[in-house]
Amino acid sequence: MDQSLIASFRPLRQAVRRFVTDEVLPLEQERGLTWDVAPPRELRRDVRTRSKALGLYAPDMAEEVGGAGLSFLGRCEMEMELHSLATVFFQDVLGGGCGPSAILLHATPSQRERFLGPLMAGLTSTCFALSEPDAGSDATALQTRAVADDAGFVLNGTKNIVSNGPQADFAIVFAATKGAGAGGVTAFLVDAANPGYSVGRAHTCMGFTGFQGEIVLSDCRVTADDVLGPVGRGFALAMDWINGNRLLTAAMATGIGRGVIERSARYALGRTQFGAPIASYQAIQLKLADLATSLFAAELMVQRSAWMKDEGLDIRKESAMTKLYCSEMVNRAAYEAIQIHGGVGCLQETGIERVYRMVRILTILEGTSEMQRLTIAERMLKELGR
Ligand SMILES: Cc1cc2nc3c(=O)[nH]c(=O)nc-3n(C[C@H](O)[C@H](O)[C@H](O)COP(=O)(O)OP(=O)(O)OC[C@H]3O[C@@H](n4cnc5c(N)ncnc54)[C@H](O)[C@@H]3O)c2cc1C
Repeated sequence: MDQSLIASFRPLRQAVRRFVTDEVLPLEQERGLTWDVAPPRELRRDVRTRSKALGLYAPDMAEEVGGAGLSFLGRCEMEMELHSLATVFFQDVLGGGCGPSAILLHATPSQRERFLGPLMAGLTSTCFALSEPDAGSDATALQTRAVADDAGFVLNGTKNIVSNGPQADFAIVFAATKGAGAGGVTAFLVDAANPGYSVGRAHTCMGFTGFQGEIVLSDCRVTADDVLGPVGRGFALAMDWINGNRLLTAAMATGIGRGVIERSARYALGRTQFGAPIASYQAIQLKLADLATSLFAAELMVQRSAWMKDEGLDIRKESAMTKLYCSEMVNRAAYEAIQIHGGVGCLQETGIERVYRMVRILTILEGTSEMQRLTIAERMLKELGR
């Protein structure tokens, strides 16, 4: 990978930093927004349209749908920069999992007009509704059914822990259309205004309260034009999207890690105990050295895997490795950051305990660390058997 590629994204990283520090963080402060309560819908829309105006929203979407066609590597660089600054609007600044994503490039021209256009303009948001109470790591065990009739399909079932589920204007819903297993799953674009579509319980989730919830489909009718991609190909579309998204999650984890490690080092330089800055004690230096080393490795993994994706290479193993490593790395970083901050690290006012809570979910969503390891081993053994 040509390292000058990384340097070429510096202006983009600077633009993200400027936007977040000049416009987003003051807005959060002025409105007293915290991670513990989801920001109001209008405010989120406002942040989306403002980042869109600066070319920062969904920058990696294809030019044919109004995106900037930025490489995936560029997108990951932006994610790392954004998350090192940690803002409650992280989903809305760059689009995130609730904004325009590559899976929607499978949309037909009429679906692009109805769903993708407003999404690209930052006017709406969406969600990815795959998980169910009895289908988590085994996402092929879906109980949500889509039964074909003359007018299209009738959907019944409940999706849970859906990020942006309570706020989404439409959902990308995965349902079993025929038989069991991966080959029986179909993806649908379902407007939240559809009769039979409702938001169920909003979950009180560690670190991200107000963002996750249930979606209940009760005799929810959709037309054949609401099918995303071919019937029976939904699981393949979901996995393809998840492979890319794992890298964005890894970039998020790495950015948060970068921010919290830097804060810890600064704190250690400024905090004096026993007559000297705690940064002068080797016990603290060893922690900082280990954190800096794992951060370096995480950054390289994100960059290398994103570059591979841009090159069209198979990234199933690498995206699992990168997501596994970076999500575990940031959890260690948050733990040690509290240790370095001591008692004040546990106080809400310093914001470190929030990071600690917020990163915990990263080893679970988009596949747990255990499932990433299974994927890595499976791919590795297959490669050896070739
Ligand atoms: C904050 C948050 C946001 C989320 N957002 C979304 C979203 O937007 N859309 C969506 O569809 N889903 C979402 N999810 C759901 C998420 O994808 C699932 O929680 C995740 O896939 C794990 O499934 P599960 O919770 O059912 O755990 P389970 O599958 O029940 O796993 C429980 C434990 O068993 C282990 N385990 C399971 N099977 C195996 C095995 N074969 N070998 C070894 N260990 C195993 C797991 O690793 C885990 O430790 C979100 C979850 C969270 C926490």
